[in-house]
Amino acid sequence: MKLESSTDTGPQILPLRAFSDNYIWLLERGRHAVLVDPGDAGPALAHLAAAGLQLVAILVTHHHPDHTGGIEGILAQLQGDVPIPVYGPASEDIASVNCPLVDGDRVELPELQASFEVIAVPGHTRGHIAYYGRKLCGCGVLFCGDTLFPCGCGRLFEGTPAQMHASLGRLAALPAATKLYCAHEYTQANIHFALAVEPDNEALHQREQQVARLRAADLPTVPSTVELELATNPFLRVTAPTVRASAQRSSGEQLTEPVAVFAAIRAWKNKF
Ligand code: ZN
Ligand code: FE
Repeated sequence: MKLESSTDTGPQILPLRAFSDNYIWLLERGRHAVLVDPGDAGPALAHLAAAGLQLVAILVTHHHPDHTGGIEGILAQLQGDVPIPVYGPASEDIASVNCPLVDGDRVELPELQASFEVIAVPGHTRGHIAYYGRKLCGCGVLFCGDTLFPCGCGRLFEGTPAQMHASLGRLAALPAATKLYCAHEYTQANIHFALAVEPDNEALHQREQQVARLRAADLPTVPSTVELELATNPFLRVTAPTVRASAQRSSGEQLTEPVAVFAAIRAWKNKF
């Protein structure tokens, strides 16, 4: 009798802490592991060795050093005769990427019995991509790098407000239960800003309490879900009258288009 399919919960997903507030995500199943955005080789190599895991792939969301800086060191340590696939955005210059990806591509990870769809999410950087595991862990999971954070979004280093607004729109359209794994622990500061935008948002006040409890216990506030972000993330709520009113107050302008509201909120956050 085989019960595996009904009880299968997918690979385990664990955060490895790096630098002051980065998360390197580790997916493991059996003895196999995949790393997402290993900015630092140290914590990744230490965990793989301690847990006796074999690294089968690396996924990269964008070119910033806090997401890519550990790749060379990891490969130097672990690579044998067969190259370890390093997936990343085709349109960004990342020397270690040997499997370049564009929007709509699929990443197959048979060792984890997992596959991911690539979603182009330009904005934080021009070529930023996210990895969406549609049927993973029962609910769907998304590795979104520095694009969508709990109650926040990435800074626009290279892209335009229109690009980021469209990118966030694609992520917000994923199923409500989709788990969102971002690459930084920024939630408390983001909630502080979100409350300035929406001081009367009850869901946001509840989330503030819950996040405070997690952080007091030194626990991650990630993953989030699409449903929670739709209720509490001002950058996904630019069509809400309350958010638009705050954006108009902060910018001193009459804002009619959602993308203009988004741009005003992002500009406000930059100097908050
Ligand atoms: Zn970044
Ligand atoms: Fe980052």
